[in-house]
Amino acid sequence: MVKQIVDVLRDGTICLGSSVTCDGFAEGFPIRVQTHVHDDHMIKFETSKGLQDLVMRPETYSLLVAEKNADLEYRDNFHRLGCGKKFELEDGSHLCLLPSNHMLGSCQVTLQRTDGLRIGYSGDFGWPLGKVIEVDQLVVDSTYGSPRSVRHYTQAAAEECLSSLVFGQLRQGPVHIYAHRGTIERVLHVLSDNIGVPIIATARLIKEVEVYQDYGLAAGELLWADSEVGQLAMQEKSFVHLYSKGDGFRNEPMDGTSITCSAYMVPSNNPLLQYSDRAYRVSLSNHADFNETLAYIKATGAKKVVTDNTRNHGCELALAINQRLEGVFASPSSNKRAPC
Ligand SMILES: [Zn+2]
Ligand SMILES: [Zn+2]
Repeated sequence: MVKQIVDVLRDGTICLGSSVTCDGFAEGFPIRVQTHVHDDHMIKFETSKGLQDLVMRPETYSLLVAEKNADLEYRDNFHRLGCGKKFELEDGSHLCLLPSNHMLGSCQVTLQRTDGLRIGYSGDFGWPLGKVIEVDQLVVDSTYGSPRSVRHYTQAAAEECLSSLVFGQLRQGPVHIYAHRGTIERVLHVLSDNIGVPIIATARLIKEVEVYQDYGLAAGELLWADSEVGQLAMQEKSFVHLYSKGDGFRNEPMDGTSITCSAYMVPSNNPLLQYSDRAYRVSLSNHADFNETLAYIKATGAKKVVTDNTRNHGCELALAINQRLEGVFASPSSNKRAPC
């Protein structure tokens, strides 16, 4: 019986064997894989920058350069690894990344050891996926690991719900939309084709969207809020203003309608939640739900699974895997302090 060699540390750092961390730092591990740029996956990034080699998809690298400007471009410990390509470690094992359908640059990770054992991390992932990593041991994201987290509508229906809400509300005035990074670009993509009103954003968001456009996301034109055209557009009755992390949503009272696009899927049978006639939430999620998470685990072929128990649902998911997936043994992560 092969010993379990994957785990998650207390701060959320994923450990694959004894040399690779994902989305976090651990003493003595020379390599860090950055699966994507969401804040909760950027644990101790500055420490890693100084002490580890960092491996990521080129798209993630570009988003980091756009966000942090700074010195990243001049560092030789940042490695851009295209999907399906191999990155060889000193001990002869190698890393491989595959897309995870969560946001631009997001990936699943495999580490193939010299003895043939394959270990991996799902990263945050959406479903369905074109390609799934094939591994013996897996750390799986448990965001929707509860059997109660089942979505009873499609993502296409959620997008449809968002566009009809926006079209309807634009008759009463401007519409302000807040979403996470990655999701806000999806909102732009959904709306920009035929919305027929200006879409306003901060300089920060425009820069981020440009990275998406460089990688082929055909999103519409954004007007900079502080520019002359942007200011003029905002004097009109109807426009859409997009906001994401760092854009100052809700810092001042706003005219018109506010819509938050969030990953919460309560109620599970309807993507729309109305707070008032001017405030709504649309559940637009780039995460697999509970059933999709089980389908993903099955597709990886993993026989040992560690559920990420540093947040909600790690225990519930491990239990469900043991009950429902034959031949798969799951346990919640140890959440230890020290390196595993
Ligand atoms: Zn994420
Ligand atoms: Zn996450």
